[in-house]
Amino acid sequence: MVKRAALVVATALAALASGGLAMATPAHAAAQREARVSMLFGKALRDPGALRMFLRQMPKGGDLHNHLAGTVYAEDYLAWAASSGLCFASGKLLPPPCPVGTSVAEVAGRDPETYAHAVDALSTRGWQAGVSRGTVSGHDQFFATFGRFAPASDGHTAEALVAARRIAAGDRLLYLELDHDPEAVSGYMAASPDVPLDEAGLSARYDAEIGSIEPVVTRAMAELDGDERKAAAQLGCAGASPDPACAVSVRYIGYTLRALPPAAVFRGLILAFALAERDPRFVGVNIVQPEDWPVPLRDYALHMAMFRFLEGKYPAVHRSLHAGELAFGQVPPAALRDHIAQALDAGAQRIGHGVDIAYEDNARVTMTRMARDGIAVEINLSSNDVILGIRGAEHPLRLYRSMGVPTVLATDDQGVLRTDMTHEYMRAAQEQGFSYSDLKASARASLEYAFLPGMSLWRSHRLGVAVAACAGSWSSAACRSFAAANEKARIQLDLERKIQKFEDDQISMPNGWHEM
Ligand SMILES: [Zn+2]
Repeated sequence: MVKRAALVVATALAALASGGLAMATPAHAAAQREARVSMLFGKALRDPGALRMFLRQMPKGGDLHNHLAGTVYAEDYLAWAASSGLCFASGKLLPPPCPVGTSVAEVAGRDPETYAHAVDALSTRGWQAGVSRGTVSGHDQFFATFGRFAPASDGHTAEALVAARRIAAGDRLLYLELDHDPEAVSGYMAASPDVPLDEAGLSARYDAEIGSIEPVVTRAMAELDGDERKAAAQLGCAGASPDPACAVSVRYIGYTLRALPPAAVFRGLILAFALAERDPRFVGVNIVQPEDWPVPLRDYALHMAMFRFLEGKYPAVHRSLHAGELAFGQVPPAALRDHIAQALDAGAQRIGHGVDIAYEDNARVTMTRMARDGIAVEINLSSNDVILGIRGAEHPLRLYRSMGVPTVLATDDQGVLRTDMTHEYMRAAQEQGFSYSDLKASARASLEYAFLPGMSLWRSHRLGVAVAACAGSWSSAACRSFAAANEKARIQLDLERKIQKFEDDQISMPNGWHEM
């Protein structure tokens, strides 16, 4: 690591020399600033504490792969469970009445050992090193937590939003794209009749469903109105001293559950598309749950056909698909052959995880296509480590980057996994060889590939090359009116300003690890 840090410093010095200290154009000033901060980053890389401090302060753009329910830490769920009178028994939260000694409120007050068991049961605490505990894999532990904390998450969406926005603000994130289904949606999806459904039957099934979809969408929108209002009130967003979390912009991605029977998956997907078409807060659709379970493996091609069918009905709705969240040996080789390619054929505009790409039959063709079409991969390093045991050189992040595929760092389920975006940046630096410039590019990419409305600040995905309106100066009248008309560009400009301030602050910082 020291060797790599030395290389970073040498490269930065060379950049400084070639830039010429006397050059005063904004582009040269920016290059010089980045080179100096790269040197400081190189020093911080030698010490995890210093690196954490450096990266915590670094503005990081957006988190594009973040499940709202999985963002909440177990301790928050336990606090909500205590206030709702829930019990912790048989390794999970349960509704009252509570058998003696199992009331979460009592446990939290006077039984720290049971409380610790509860935190362990509702998270992957202890699995971060990729070590399974007993006979339970990180995969099984991770996916089991959602059912265990569900009684505490129900009815607490506003509190979850507060938690997600606060964590994001602490991580210097400006934007969250949260996977979230309002309870009106999840309830109606779960109530679907289990009627047989194949690709040929999609059109007739859609016609049978669509009449009852709109009222559910209306209820879901009203539900989110209430949750957002409550969250904003809890954060004091309209008051004199709003919580910093109020500054984090939030959009949502509705999803279907791939382990349900086909008719329910389809109903969930129709709801997600219809919601995204009507409510601008929902900027896309997704499909979630373990890809390796038997039903998701069996129905994968049918699910992709559902996406293709609904894209014909709702062409303006964005699509991010979990695909290739699989590992060699975890499933039979046939299951590794083409899930990512199939997701692209089904219209995916971003891929979640994409871990098994090297095992796909046409991996090179697929990655070339992603690079050409600007289809980004949402990279979740801690998640892939805990759930799949894929880390370090085994992870395809380098491969994607070497093929020119855009990538963004994301947290996936930071509460369950007990990570945060700063930690994901640390892993990218320590395990994947990211330089400061690479991390900065990742922060920019996280807004570039967001499903935010409006045009980008950058020209044709060339991060750092501004559109004509902003090419001269961020503060010109033309750039200001461009940003006012395009929300994506506005948040991108905000990131650029914050990065510049961060770099200035780092350079002017007098003491500390700089001297190490
Ligand atoms: Zn996910």
